Amino acid sequence: MPDVFSGILGQPKVRDFLRSVVAHGRIGQSYLFTGPAGSNKTLAAYALAQAVICEDGVCGTCDACKRVSRRKHPDVRYFEPEGAGGYLVEQIREIVGDVGLAPIQASSKVYIIDRVDLLGVQAANAFLKTLEEPPANVVFILLGRTQASVLPTIVSRCQVVPFRHIPQSEACGIVCQNSGATPLQAAVAIQACSGSISKAIEFVRSTERFSFRLRVMQVMESLELADDLDVLEFAAELIERAQAPLDLVRKTQEEELAASAEFMAQSAIRQVEARNKRALSAKSAESLRQITAIMRSWLRDVLVVCSMRPELVINQDMAEGIGNAASKTSAPQVVRALSALDETDEAFRYNVSPETCIDVLLYQIREELYGSHSARAAAI
Ligand SMILES: [Zn+2]
Repeated sequence: MPDVFSGILGQPKVRDFLRSVVAHGRIGQSYLFTGPAGSNKTLAAYALAQAVICEDGVCGTCDACKRVSRRKHPDVRYFEPEGAGGYLVEQIREIVGDVGLAPIQASSKVYIIDRVDLLGVQAANAFLKTLEEPPANVVFILLGRTQASVLPTIVSRCQVVPFRHIPQSEACGIVCQNSGATPLQAAVAIQACSGSISKAIEFVRSTERFSFRLRVMQVMESLELADDLDVLEFAAELIERAQAPLDLVRKTQEEELAASAEFMAQSAIRQVEARNKRALSAKSAESLRQITAIMRSWLRDVLVVCSMRPELVINQDMAEGIGNAASKTSAPQVVRALSALDETDEAFRYNVSPETCIDVLLYQIREELYGSHSARAAAI
């Protein structure tokens, strides 16, 4: 029978473990979920949060359960690093201060703390005492890439739940099953979402995301003949389209705040505003990373064609443009273009303006792939 844990796709052991913990009423207070990006840790964390918050036997359908799964419950808080290099000590102090406060709607509170592998020694020290002796109504779910990358002082205070890497072919099958997508669409979506199955399922359901992917790939195809002004225009267009869904998020935030503002103290309103702002910038970084993920997927395909393995192309609907690019460049050049993408992802973390990042990136990719003596120069 489907339950709140059914959605943790590709992780049967984790699913069984969480079900049994809940069935026996033995939910612990500090968990560390470890696993690579795309292994469904965040989804599992929210499912466990439902089990903590629901007062109706983990029903998945009551108002509280729905709020948790929509990530809107005030007693289920999600944190990710806000500093360029990881968590800021102030951020951890905010969490520690918040832990002592009473829940707002439920009788318990859940803190989902993502990327604890980016928790430095100083920030971790500010957190240890709280993690060791949390108030009785608080559950911590920490998420990290590998157990080895998390500070031992943190690991030793948590129950570690390992998530497996989901192989590409299995991930494709899961996305097809859960979205009705064709295997090709599923493979394309998984690449565009940097391997995340749950994001890939959302992606294939959205025609708008699919047309965005198409446009990013068309831009990549056009780079060879693009002049500097074209590149600037491409960058502006991609950013505008990537950020379009944010307007909706901003509007929803404003409406929700307006609806509850008259019952809230000024200080609480400021807190919600600050949290909304952070949520918005996290969403913005995510949408920018989608541009680079799609570019990476396209370049990867160019690379396999350069390496004489065209049968490994994933974006088969774009095979013609990919083959054309491969005929004009070489594997080492594509590898250099790929590393430019990694640098850009890094730059997003440092709050460099997205326009600048994408401009520079497109110039770099053009130069790496086609050099300065490209057909563009010959055409002039
Ligand atoms: Zn419920």
